[in-house]
Amino acid sequence: MATTAIINATIFDATGKAPFTGHVLIDGNTIVSVTQGDSPQADTVIDAAGKFLMPGMTEGHGHLSFENCAATEHLITPTPEEQVFAAARGAKALIDAGFTSVYGASEAKLRLGVAVRNEVNAGRLPGPRIRAGGLEISVTGGMGDESTDHNPRIGPSTLINGPEEMRAEVRRQIREGVDNIKLDVSGDPFYAWRAGTVGTPATCSPMHYDELKMAVDTAHNLGRKVNVHTRSVEGSKMSVRAGVDALFHVEHSDEELLDMLEEAKDRLFVVPTIDLFHQMVTGGAACAGITSEVATMMGVPPLIEASIETHTALRKRGVRHLIGGDYGFVWAQHGQQARDLVRFVDYYGYSPADALVCATRNGGHAMMGDGSLGTIEAGKLADMILVDSDVLADLSILSDTTRVVMVMKDGALHKSPAN
Ligand SMILES: [Zn+2]
Repeated sequence: MATTAIINATIFDATGKAPFTGHVLIDGNTIVSVTQGDSPQADTVIDAAGKFLMPGMTEGHGHLSFENCAATEHLITPTPEEQVFAAARGAKALIDAGFTSVYGASEAKLRLGVAVRNEVNAGRLPGPRIRAGGLEISVTGGMGDESTDHNPRIGPSTLINGPEEMRAEVRRQIREGVDNIKLDVSGDPFYAWRAGTVGTPATCSPMHYDELKMAVDTAHNLGRKVNVHTRSVEGSKMSVRAGVDALFHVEHSDEELLDMLEEAKDRLFVVPTIDLFHQMVTGGAACAGITSEVATMMGVPPLIEASIETHTALRKRGVRHLIGGDYGFVWAQHGQQARDLVRFVDYYGYSPADALVCATRNGGHAMMGDGSLGTIEAGKLADMILVDSDVLADLSILSDTTRVVMVMKDGALHKSPAN
């Protein structure tokens, strides 16, 4: 096996240790040593003096096939043949930006994430490690159901009613190669009103516990993970009780939910997806017609307030957060996911170092489950990035792809430093 040494780097190993100057020796796809003092010999030596070495990041709620979306129409209308290119571009943008892993949420069509994952794993396309998401699973009248009786239309989700339909749909998606099942448990501000009805706002929970539990049992039985879209208190409680692996959004909470999440913190992850809303209320999404006034009409400001309260409390309780989520919109492109790091500091009170742990160590654990990924330590998988200056002094540089000067995944260089 060929060896590579990255020497004289400022190393942030994501174990909780303060950054230090040192050397990392890689053999094949594995880190064999992290040392200080004399630099090690290797077939390839990369001098990283003055540069910041950290584990590769994980996008914790990936939609690879979402590209320049402003409405669900942009997920539904394009053909799968065109969308597979969008998913491939998403995978490349992510690894170019230092995201060596994508923990999949859902895709615009069932097999887009699966197909790209397979091509990346075969070495035919550039991209991160991918746990592929499939189609969102919702219920009649829930998020993603865009039909009314007088105007039936295909939505971005597949709809089930009752546990038996859920069992069949989860089995079908797993048969098609999906790693991560995604359920729409609560409502959403994008579906708050429809056809003169009250619709399904963020505080309601259209999916029932028996459907949710069936999805978890069926997926776990086949070694797959289950992730939920949940903004409501009841939706989040049902999700924890049913044994899901990750909860996305989770704005609303009460004391009982916070206790439940803390108790389950070793078996689940929480992904706040905060930048989407941040952009909507600060004018970042105005290019897509979502001005801050429109965001207010959609009920976004109180969701941000609730998000701050809930996720600050979860940080204090040691619940493992992941960054990323809901990128691929016009105002939030793939490769910009590290913007979440700044939000984690500004909104949830994270230190820059602890925010980076969410992006790296927590993400690695969500991907592999066995602790083999996400830190720079001997014996761990060699997914690392080199950034041109001190990330802890300014987290925002990580959302600029050009500042990420080296990307290594599984011991192989995707992006080589210029030296
Ligand atoms: Zn999403």
